[in-house]
Amino acid sequence: MKRIYLDNAATTPVDTRVVEKMIPMFSTEYGNPSSIYAEGREAAKAIEGARREVADLIGAAPEEIYFTGSGTEADNWALRGIAEQNKKRGNHIITSAVEHHAVLHTAQELEKEGFDVTYLPVDEYGMVNPEDLKKALRDDTILVSIMMANNEIGTVEPIKELVEIVKDHNKRTVFHTDAVQALGNIPVDVKDLGVDLLSVSGHKIYGPKGIGALYVRKGQPIKNLLEGGAQEKNKRPGTENTAAIVGFGEAAKIAKEGLDEHSKHQKEIRDYLIEQVLERIPDSYLTGHPEERLPGNASFIFDYIEGEGILLSLDMGGISGSSGSACTSGSLDPSHVLLATGLPAGRAHGSLRLTIGRDTTKEDIDYTVDVLEEGIKRLRAMSPLDKDHPIDSDVYKEADKHHHH
Ligand code: PLP
Repeated sequence: MKRIYLDNAATTPVDTRVVEKMIPMFSTEYGNPSSIYAEGREAAKAIEGARREVADLIGAAPEEIYFTGSGTEADNWALRGIAEQNKKRGNHIITSAVEHHAVLHTAQELEKEGFDVTYLPVDEYGMVNPEDLKKALRDDTILVSIMMANNEIGTVEPIKELVEIVKDHNKRTVFHTDAVQALGNIPVDVKDLGVDLLSVSGHKIYGPKGIGALYVRKGQPIKNLLEGGAQEKNKRPGTENTAAIVGFGEAAKIAKEGLDEHSKHQKEIRDYLIEQVLERIPDSYLTGHPEERLPGNASFIFDYIEGEGILLSLDMGGISGSSGSACTSGSLDPSHVLLATGLPAGRAHGSLRLTIGRDTTKEDIDYTVDVLEEGIKRLRAMSPLDKDHPIDSDVYKEADKHHHH
């Protein structure tokens, strides 16, 4: 059976051109980039080429790009590295309630270690209010970390405006943005945004998994996360994952060349998907911002049913989607993002995220909505939750209690 993959926010298939570039790094170009002989020099040269491509994609200089083992590591490094670098100057950090766990859980750890963290609320669309940031800034605020685009509901935050507010308050307050979901889908330009640090990841842009990068603006001091050798100009030790780095570079080059076309394609398919779902499925709602959202993200809630049931019925029909983020779909806790938008836990359980890829067609969407419509009808027929048992009824409370254990 043909599969329809609509979980491109979780990960993307590796582009065949990327694979082609990676293969020699395992075979003929196996040298350690730190070695001074020919094999080593070749490997080092390949890394520098990739660094240029990743830098080009985000408008940075190559020497401002540091490769990491994942987007998660880049986020951890940004928060912890800046917190530890600046702890004598202040201990206040600002982030948002809808960040990826790589940021959120790092912030929570830093809190345990004595840092004071403010989690900015969001509106019903998942948008941070610039006025809230203005009010939260203090003399001892050392770091602000707000994501560029949300992984669950696709909302694109007003980063440029938020950076201006921070820099007007204090030029030395560091601004970090997690651009893992934005990269390759919308323009990301570090100079235009004015950020000091920016996280990216390879596997969301048709590159390999287990490779990320942190942009560190020239002149921005940051403590290391790891200790070891002198790789990445003494900032990120560990023998380089040469194949993954080269793959990330090639993926970045392809993403830059195809950005306009890719986002136009995604938006067309996404808008069709949203229109069909809302029209054909009763009690369905779009989550995230109606306009300021990633071109490939369609996220919904369907009342009276569970996201897990929806995912299973889609999977049986050959369709891959997601409920909440990939990392939380193994658990039944309602998404912190949806809760932050003000949805009660009961309704947040009925969430579905479908994300459009390069090859997604309108025919894929027609079939998907057929399967979805049928599956939801069946689930609702079996569900104890309906219009006579509204979301604040005991039935939901029981369901929630169950989920929290
Ligand atoms: N940040 C966001 C917004 C993400 O969506 C993800 C991936 O799901 C990450 C960070 C983590 O990136 P990685 O999977 O490379 O660790």
